[in-house]
Order: sequence, then C-alpha cells, then structure tokens
Amino acid sequence: MFLIDPHIHMVSRTTSDYEMLALSGVVAVSEPAFWAGFDRSPAGFTDYFRQLTEFEPQRAAQFGIDHYCWICLNPKEAEDLGKANEVLAEIPKYLDQPNVLGIGEIGLNKNTPNEAKVFQQHVQLALDWAAKLPDRKAPAERPRHALILIHTPHLQDKLKGTRMILDMLKDFGSAIDPSRILIDHVEEHTIGLVKDAGYWAGMTIYPISKATPQRAVDMLEVFGVEKLCVNAAADWGISDPLNTHRTMLEAQRRGHSRDTLLQVFHNNPADFFGKNPRFKPRPIHLAR
Ligand SMILES: [Zn+2]
Repeated sequence: MFLIDPHIHMVSRTTSDYEMLALSGVVAVSEPAFWAGFDRSPAGFTDYFRQLTEFEPQRAAQFGIDHYCWICLNPKEAEDLGKANEVLAEIPKYLDQPNVLGIGEIGLNKNTPNEAKVFQQHVQLALDWAAKLPDRKAPAERPRHALILIHTPHLQDKLKGTRMILDMLKDFGSAIDPSRILIDHVEEHTIGLVKDAGYWAGMTIYPISKATPQRAVDMLEVFGVEKLCVNAAADWGISDPLNTHRTMLEAQRRGHSRDTLLQVFHNNPADFFGKNPRFKPRPIHLAR
C-alpha cells in the first residue's frame, strides 16, 4: 500500500525516520509550518522557511519521498502583533517556491483576539496571492485563494476555536472556496461542523492526545471517507510517524476494502494537494 502523510513535522525527525517512512510505503509528505517550542525572532522564521523549502525536500528525496510544505506564522506566536506583521510581510516571497502548497498551519491556540486577527491576516494573504495570478483562465476556473491548512486548538479550547475559525471564514463570504481549505485535528465533536460546511477535514493520531487509530476509524465509519485525511503530525513532542499506518491497519482489520484504504491514505490527500498544480501525483496502481 502507498501512503501520503498530509501533516508531519519532519524538521523534528531524524533522517532514519525518512527511511522508515519510505520502507513503510510513504511516497509523499506535507509539512505545515509550526511552533519550534520557543518563540522565534523574525529572522528565525526566515531560516525556518528556508529549511522547509530547501533542506527538507533534499533529505526526503534521498528516500524517494516527495516533500511539500506550508508557510505561516504559528498561532502560538501571534500575540506580539509587531513581530507577526514582520513575519507576515515575508510569507508571500515563499508561496511560489517549488514545494510550497499554500498557507498553513494557521489557526487558533488559546482563541485570543490577537490570534484571530493574525488568522484573518493569513487568509487575506491567501486571497492576495490569487489576485496576483496571471489572467490565463476564465474567472470561474481561477482559484479564489491559495490552499489553506488550518490547526484547531487542543482539548478544552477545540470546540470554541473550531466555531470561531468557521465564523471567521464565513465573514470572507464568497471569496472563500471550502474545497481549497483543510481543517485539521478534528475530533468527534468537531468533524461534523467542518464537513457540513464543505471543508476538508484532517484527523491527527497521537499516542497520548488527539485521536487514537480506533477513534479515527470510528469517525471514518460514521462520517464517511469523502474529503477526509489522516495524519500522524509527528513533531518534537510525544508522537509517532507510523500512527497513520496504525490507523490504516485498524481500518483493514475491520474489513474496509483496499479501495477505501487507498482513497483515505493516498488519494484523498493527493486530490486536495492536487488543487495546486505544483503537487505532482505519482501514478499508483492498486494491486488486486
Ligand atoms: Zn502540526
């Protein structure tokens, strides 16, 4: 089976982890920009964006893995609006790098007014990117904005934060194309809100927080496999790059077909990423 991990923080992982992912069928990863565990200076962001766009694709390519990424300022670093504005001004320079799929993971952490403001500024950057595209296509075919990947808050802040995010997106009106936005870290009490509003949903499988493989497969069975992605989000915390695979095994154990597994763990992320022509899908043939 071939897989794509649509949300994994490879800067935190060793080169051996890339090998392990390749050995276990991963053909592509996508790495959203996130928090380093401490607040960076604006110059630190520039170095980080170079790491995501220059160094990680090379490290992944050694094992035949395609590396894509997303650029943004993490909500945890949005409280200092002066610093946030400096970083926001740098982001457009990176959006046309060869492995950049869009803006992410933006979102909320503690649902504060400053986090909300920086979230809206990021969405505006995504809209500005599309407004500058050359006029080669008919208006109906032109993307309304760059692809966006959204982080929803942890535990007690998740439901409120998810609602705030959906409301802020709604405020942008018809400028927003829900098929170009993935809202991540959904759980049982938020997945319905996200899918009903027409967005892609991401489930994150962590050893001690967020969903387990069993809960993720329950959600998949209740809410359907359309516009649903699964990721391990492995980072520098307690996390496991093979949790996407464990979820696939749980689905297989419950009798889900190979077609379903291929759709959830490969074709769905490929379909979402493929809305950006920079994503180059590999032809995968399903062995029957
Ligand atoms: Zn993340």
